[in-house]
Amino acid sequence: MKEILNFINGEFVATTDWFDKTTPYDGKVIARVAAAGKPEVDAAVRAARSALDGPWGKLAVADRVDMLYAVADEITRRFDDFAEAEMSDIGQPSHFIRHVDVPRGAANFKIFADVVKNVPSEFFEMATPDGRGALNYSLRRPVGVVAVICPWNLPFLLMTWKLGPALACGNTVVVKPSEETPQTAALLGEVMNKVGMPKGVFNVVNGFGPDAAGEFLTTHPGVSAITFTGETRTGAAIMKAAADGARPVSLEMGGKNAAIVFADCDMDAAIEGTLRSTFANCGQVCLGTERVYVERPIFDEFVSRLKRGAESMKPGLPADPASKMGPLISQEHRDKVLSYYRKAVEEGATVVTGGGVPDMPAALEAGSWVEPTIWTGLPDSAAVMRDEIFGPCCHISPFDSEEEVIRRANDNPYGLAAAVWTTNLQRAHRLGGVLEAGIVWVNSWFLRDLRTPFGGSKQSGIGREGGVHSLEFYTELKNVCIKL
Ligand code: NAD
Repeated sequence: MKEILNFINGEFVATTDWFDKTTPYDGKVIARVAAAGKPEVDAAVRAARSALDGPWGKLAVADRVDMLYAVADEITRRFDDFAEAEMSDIGQPSHFIRHVDVPRGAANFKIFADVVKNVPSEFFEMATPDGRGALNYSLRRPVGVVAVICPWNLPFLLMTWKLGPALACGNTVVVKPSEETPQTAALLGEVMNKVGMPKGVFNVVNGFGPDAAGEFLTTHPGVSAITFTGETRTGAAIMKAAADGARPVSLEMGGKNAAIVFADCDMDAAIEGTLRSTFANCGQVCLGTERVYVERPIFDEFVSRLKRGAESMKPGLPADPASKMGPLISQEHRDKVLSYYRKAVEEGATVVTGGGVPDMPAALEAGSWVEPTIWTGLPDSAAVMRDEIFGPCCHISPFDSEEEVIRRANDNPYGLAAAVWTTNLQRAHRLGGVLEAGIVWVNSWFLRDLRTPFGGSKQSGIGREGGVHSLEFYTELKNVCIKL
């Protein structure tokens, strides 16, 4: 049986406490994972702290940048290993993992290395009463040991999204991957050793959240800052933990994202985009669409075309080129999604398609499969319209005016992303300005330039990462004032 170990101070470390990793597609145990207890978390934080004082802390920016390029190149060299690990961890089709998850994971190291290499510094010359003046300039310094708490939905992409800037800025890290998806973080430990990353710069502790590795790490006084991606209520718990010691947090949390489709849209593009935004990664994308608002004249056509598209989402194994959709991450998550499938019916929804569990071959029956599902007919106040479900499902509502749809789209506690489909340029700009979301896409979805700010408003997040915005969290900006 494969063993997945913690990675502390450049060494792979077992413990006496193991948990099983099963695949989401057939429920078979593929590995056992060594859970880190308090002693391992403490060792990882100490290793990270002493690495700040070692060769890593003394590296010139150019050398740090070279090191991160080497990490990216080694990931690319081991592309198949990362893709295999990710496929068995999350069970999604290989084309998605090979075209989005793994390449973006490698790119995250290069992009942030480039940002740090090119970032300018502020300079202000000031007058003083004695006429001699003073000069002010700003310097960016690492914040210290960064705890990186990761989710399971796009594990490698989202972990490296934090690691790239954290390391580029000269910090050291302790990563806690999701208990559901431990494989790529362990592989990254091998990569770090291969490229000669100094010991203790990158550490991994495995395990669960509450009263386990996650909580041990976020409450550890040696951690300087915490960056988190996951559910909003976990983010709230992490914020409480960070209050002790007044440590900064960056929180990327849940969403209940709206797509707004106007009658003047390019219908083919709107259908293709909404199919992806609803069903990619089996609906387990924080930026994914769960509420669709369609202008009344094209409502019936849109519903019937999205239905056709949903019904073509053939479920299957990651390596099967015919697979269009994988399973949900776990049985526990499937229970949650299916509870919303039932609730939609109880709340009076019309089930346009799906709503249950697909027939799968006997070998895959133990997987966490659900049908792609579309509903109509619910009021905006329904639980299915307000809560993040995080499954392959959406509700489609008609609307009659721009004003009405803006109000309805914004009437939600989350504010992560929105997608607007229209060919009216003025309207596109108007909606871009007023929709309460950290990211508004017009005539696209998941088009990401990694230099742009990324994050959520309202209960979807605190802070922005991406490009130079990541530096706000991963560095201490200080001012040096020199009296002449
Ligand atoms: P989760 O909150 O259940 O878990 C995330 C991580 O937090 C895991 O590693 C978990 O072990 C850890 N954790 C749980 N409780 C903890 C605690 N008390 N202290 C410390 N760590 C703890 O989230 P998930 O189910 O893994 O991920 C799905 C969620 O992530 C969805 O809500 C999704 O919208 C969100 N998400 C947001 C973004 C974004 O960028 N905004 C991106 C991807 C996913």
